[in-house]
Amino acid sequence: MTDILIIGAGTAGLTAGIYAARAGKSATVLESTVYGGQIINTPDIENYPGIAHISGFDFAQRLYEQATALGVKVEYGTVTSIKGAGAEFTVTAAGNKAYSCRAVILATGAKNRRLGIDREELLVGKGISYCATCDGMFFRGKDAAVNGGGNTALGDALYLAGICRKVYVIHRRDQFRGAETDVEKLKELGNVEFVLNSTVTRLNGETKLESIDVTDKNTREVRTIPVSALFVAIGQEPDNGAFADLVKLDARGYIAAGEDCRTGREGVFAAGDCRTKTLRQLTTAAADGAVAATAACEYIDRL
Ligand code: NAP
Repeated sequence: MTDILIIGAGTAGLTAGIYAARAGKSATVLESTVYGGQIINTPDIENYPGIAHISGFDFAQRLYEQATALGVKVEYGTVTSIKGAGAEFTVTAAGNKAYSCRAVILATGAKNRRLGIDREELLVGKGISYCATCDGMFFRGKDAAVNGGGNTALGDALYLAGICRKVYVIHRRDQFRGAETDVEKLKELGNVEFVLNSTVTRLNGETKLESIDVTDKNTREVRTIPVSALFVAIGQEPDNGAFADLVKLDARGYIAAGEDCRTGREGVFAAGDCRTKTLRQLTTAAADGAVAATAACEYIDRL
């Protein structure tokens, strides 16, 4: 029996662990893949208060060390069901491993959105990637494209521009959603080309990616761009299907919970990118972790 079972070892989940431990509660974080969450894919974080620059990987590592040093347990497994109420919940993970706890914090983040075009899955690992920091080095000296207009796409493009011969940034509008400072930095680089108002409509190459077809939204003109890699950075989608019977999901599949991180189900809280919110940032994920853990501690103390 652990006091608080936290599902997801990203920024929200690990921060929740830190707050729970410091409030004297036992906390176990259950993670389905690797600790750190989405931020491990960010080459350079520039907007976390008090830290001018840090890589996402280093940030995640520090967070993990801080949490585990305080006694937070991190275990691995994919949650298949959560049952119970009041003072006892049973969380079951793949392989029928069961955990008992008094409160649950859902901090499952979100997963990378797919392009949804032909042969995308087939070419994953053969030119299609969703993580520039993980796979960028495989394309050193080659031409690559990044699809997306948010902070992830801009950060990826900046990172890849230092590795690849040329980087195309393909975005469906003519305005970027990501930070203007990064757009300005990219404009300064000689090996970056913006392909705007355009979407990737075809992936070419038999056994590996050789080129992409990009269609201009206004003219419908199709341009074939020879690239060895396409880094897809078109946002995230929630992955909360396993909790649909437990908590209310909004129309887009995010857990319906407000700034107080309460789900409407007693003893179950939601923190970070997995819940309904307007701003999904490292700072807001960390803030949610603190709020959810504090609320969960109060819930347990009230029981
Ligand atoms: P995002 O902000 O949601 O941006 C996704 C981008 O992909 C948007 O430009 C969007 O276009 C485009 N897009 C969405 N669906 C598409 C589709 N089907 N086809 C083509 N393009 C599509 O996602 P993100 O960049 O991954 O960032 C997620 C969150 O993490 C954001 O809150 C972001 O600020 C944060 N983040 C922060 C940092 C940092 O601060 N260092 C780094 C990375 C991420 P439209 O613009 O037209 O909608």
